[in-house]
Amino acid sequence: MTHSYISACPNECSAAYASVLVDCAGASETYAYQVPAGWCVQGGDVVEVPFGSQVVRGIVLEVLETIPPSVDPQRLRSLLEVVDQQLFPKDYWALLEQIATYYCTPLIQVVRTALPPGVLGRSQRRVRLRPQQGIPPLSEQGQHLLHFLQTKGGGDYSVRYLQQQLPKVQRALGELERLGLVETYLAAPASQQPKQQQAVVLLKSKGETLTQRQRQILHYLQQQGRDCWLQEVLKATGTTVQTLHRLAAKGYIAIVEQQYCRIEQGVAVTPDRPKNLTLAQATALQVISEHLDCAQTFLMHGVTGSGKTEVYLQVIAECLGRGRSALLLVPEIGLTPQLTDRVRARFGERLLVYHSGLSEGERYDTWRLTLMPQPRVIIGTRSAVLLPLVGLGLIILDEEHDSGYKQDQPQPCYHARTVAQWRSRQQRCPLILGTATPALSTWQAAQAGQIHTLSLPQRIHATPLPPITIVDMRQELHRGNRSMLSRPLQDALGNLQGQQAILFVPRRGHSTFVSCRSCGTVIYCPHCSVSLTGHLFGEAMEVLRCHYCNYSQAVPQRCPSCGSPYLKPFGGGTQRVVSELNRLFPELRVLRFDSDTTQRKGAHRQLLTQFAAGAADVMVGTQMLTKGIDLPQVALVGILAADSLLHLPDYQAAERTFQILTQVAGRSGRGAHPGRVILQTYVPEHPVITAVKAYDWDTFANLELSSRALLGYPPYSQLILLRLSSLDPEDVAATAQAIAQQLQTLPPVSQGEWEVLGPAPAAIAKIAGRYRWQILLKGKLEAVSDLSQALMHLKEQCPRSTRLSIDVDPLNF
Ligand code: ADP
Ligand code: ZN
Ligand code: ZN
Repeated sequence: MTHSYISACPNECSAAYASVLVDCAGASETYAYQVPAGWCVQGGDVVEVPFGSQVVRGIVLEVLETIPPSVDPQRLRSLLEVVDQQLFPKDYWALLEQIATYYCTPLIQVVRTALPPGVLGRSQRRVRLRPQQGIPPLSEQGQHLLHFLQTKGGGDYSVRYLQQQLPKVQRALGELERLGLVETYLAAPASQQPKQQQAVVLLKSKGETLTQRQRQILHYLQQQGRDCWLQEVLKATGTTVQTLHRLAAKGYIAIVEQQYCRIEQGVAVTPDRPKNLTLAQATALQVISEHLDCAQTFLMHGVTGSGKTEVYLQVIAECLGRGRSALLLVPEIGLTPQLTDRVRARFGERLLVYHSGLSEGERYDTWRLTLMPQPRVIIGTRSAVLLPLVGLGLIILDEEHDSGYKQDQPQPCYHARTVAQWRSRQQRCPLILGTATPALSTWQAAQAGQIHTLSLPQRIHATPLPPITIVDMRQELHRGNRSMLSRPLQDALGNLQGQQAILFVPRRGHSTFVSCRSCGTVIYCPHCSVSLTGHLFGEAMEVLRCHYCNYSQAVPQRCPSCGSPYLKPFGGGTQRVVSELNRLFPELRVLRFDSDTTQRKGAHRQLLTQFAAGAADVMVGTQMLTKGIDLPQVALVGILAADSLLHLPDYQAAERTFQILTQVAGRSGRGAHPGRVILQTYVPEHPVITAVKAYDWDTFANLELSSRALLGYPPYSQLILLRLSSLDPEDVAATAQAIAQQLQTLPPVSQGEWEVLGPAPAAIAKIAGRYRWQILLKGKLEAVSDLSQALMHLKEQCPRSTRLSIDVDPLNF
C-alpha cells in the first residue's frame, strides 16, 4: 500500500496525469485523472473530481508528466478544481500510510480521521436565482420552487435545504436550470473558508477636537500596541460603531478586513517563570536536553505532585529555543484546565489547543497552523497526535497509562502512544511518557532497556502518601455486618470533622462475575485466566461464559473452594451506596458522580468544582473520579468494590486495578490535612491488594509480568480483536463462526504464528439493540503485517447486516 509520492511539481507545471485517492463511500482505491493543461498540481493537493455522477474530493498521490500508455486518454476524466495545495507534507503522508497498514484500515479512512471536518467533505451544492426577463411556462413544481426562491431571503440556498423544504426538488431544479432561471454552484463548507473580520488599525494617536470617547479609543489602541478586532474595541471601550467611523473619517484610524484565526482563545493568565529545579528534576531535564535530536523514549516516573509538569515545561522551552514545536498530549482536556493554564502562563500565544470539543472552524484553523514551521506548543487529546506538526521537536504523553489514548472505535483503532513513537522516530525527536503508574508494557520496555527511565521519587512539597487500611469483607459478614459499608469505614465517615470524603465504586459493564462471599473465590476460565461472566436473566444467572474462548459452565450451587452456598453475582452501584449512606448518615450531604450525573456537557467540572467548594460532605463516584481538579479538603477515601475491578473479565484486570486504586488513593490528603484510605475487599491476601497497600509498583509489576509471560499475553504476545455486531443475534453468531473458520485457513494461523480464540459473545453481549460477538487473535510480536491484508479483505466481504471492526492491540474488551 505504498504510493510513490512526488512532493514537487515536475518542471513548470507540466503534469498531465494524476492518481487520486477518492473520498467516496464505496471507493476504496485510487483513480486516474487527466490534469488540464497549464494546471499546477502536486502530490498532497486536495482536488475535486468527477466520480460516477457525483463530484467528490480526493487527494493527489502522484502526478506524471505523460499519460501512461496503458491508459486510454479518451476515457480519462479531468480534475475539476484544486481546492487546497500541499496539505500533506511527505513525512505526514508516510505516517498516515503507516497507521493504515498497522491498524488494518483503508487509507482514506485514516485520512478522514486525521483531517479536521470539512476539508474532504464534499462541497455543498447551492442554487441561486439568475437575473430574469419574463418567465416561460413552468410545471407546477417548477413554479413552486421559483416562487420559494423569489420570496424567501436572497434566493441562494443549498440543495439539501431545498430538498428538506419542498417535494420533488431535483426535477424542478433541472427544469429551472435548463431554462436559465437559476444556476447551481459548489461552495466549500463555512468551516473551511478563511474567516474575515473587521479590525481597527491605529494611524495617529494625537490631535485636536477630539471628544472624551474618541480619546479613550485611541488610548486603548495605543496601549494594546497592535491592531485590534473591531468587536474587541467596542467591548473594551463601551463605544459605538459610529464613533469609530467618525475617527476613521478624521484619519486617526482605519477599519480594515483582516483574516481572523479561529483558535481557542484562553483566558488571560498571569505570566509564570521557570522554577529552580530540585536535583531529581534537574537531572531529568539534563538527560532529556542531551537527547533533543534523538528518537529516544523516556519514562518519567513520579507520583502526582513530584514535579513532572515543571520538567515538561522546561524541556518544551528548550525545544522552542531550537526552533521546533512541542506536542503535549493529555488524556482528557476538559478535566485538566489547570494544565492548559500553566502552559499558557509559560508560553502565552505560542500555545495551541486541539481536541474534539472545539468548533469545526477552530479545529480547521489550528490544523492549518500546525502545517506552518513556526515553533509552537500544542496541547491536545488523542487526536492531536494526528496533526501535521511540521517542525516537531518533542512529544510528551502525560498520564501515559491512560486507556483514553486508545481509540476503540471507529477504525483506525490507534493508540496515541504507538503513533507518537513512530513520529518520534520519523522526526528524530524525544518522546516523554509521564506517569505515576506506568502501563505494564511501558515498564517492561524500560526494564528491557528500550526506554530510559527518569524517576522523580518525592513530592515537591513532601506531603506523604496517605496510609491504606485494608478491610476484610468476609470478616464483616461473619460478624453480622451485611451493609456495603464496613464498620471501619462507617466509623471514619461518622468522624469526618468538617473534612470531605470520597467513596469510590468502580463502574462495571452489564455483565458480572460470580463470587463466594464466605471465602472470596471467583470462578475463572480454566484456559484464559479471566473471570467467567454471567449474564443475568431477570434475577437469575444460569451459565457462566468466557468471552475470550467461549468456554462455558453452569453456575455452581456451592463454592468450589469452601462449599459455602453464598455464591452470588457481585454487585452494588453508586445509587445503592448513596441510599445506604442516606440511611446510615442522614446528616451528611452526598453528591453522586457517575455517567448518569455527568451526561451534560461541562457537568464533570461543574460537579467537581461544587464539591471542591464544599457543596457536599461525601462524593460517591466511579472511575471518573480519578481525573480532574485537586480536592484539598478530602481527608478520607473509601474504596468499596475493589474486587469488581480485580475480577473484570480482562487479562489486564490486575494492572488496571493497581493503577486506578493508586490514583483514587492519591485523592486523599492533598491539602494540609493528612489523608487516609480504607479499602474493602473479599480477597485481602491478593497480591494486587497488598501491593497497592504498600504503594509497591515494582513488586507488583514483576509478578504481573511473569504471569503474562506464562499465559502468553501482551507484552509477550500481540492481540488483534475482531468485534462483530448485528441487530440479529443469529446472524452475528453465524458470521462470527464463518469468519473464525476462514481465519483458521490463513497461513499465519495454520502455521501456528497466530492463534484464533473464539468466536464468543462479547463481555457486554448487547449494546443499543446490537448483539455483539468477538474473535481474538493472539500472535507473535510485531507480526500484524502478516495478517493485515487478509483481515481487510475479510472486512470487505462481511455481510452488510453485520458490522466488523478490527482492533489491533485492543485495550478495552
Ligand atoms: P506533577 O506534574 O508531577 O503532578 P508538578 O510539576 O505539577 O508535578 O508540581 C507539583 C507542584 O509543585 C506544582 O504546584 C508546581 O508548581 C510545584 N513545583 C514543581 N517543581 C517545583 C520546584 N522545583 N520548586 C518549587 N515548586 C515546584
Ligand atoms: Zn468459598
Ligand atoms: Zn477462556
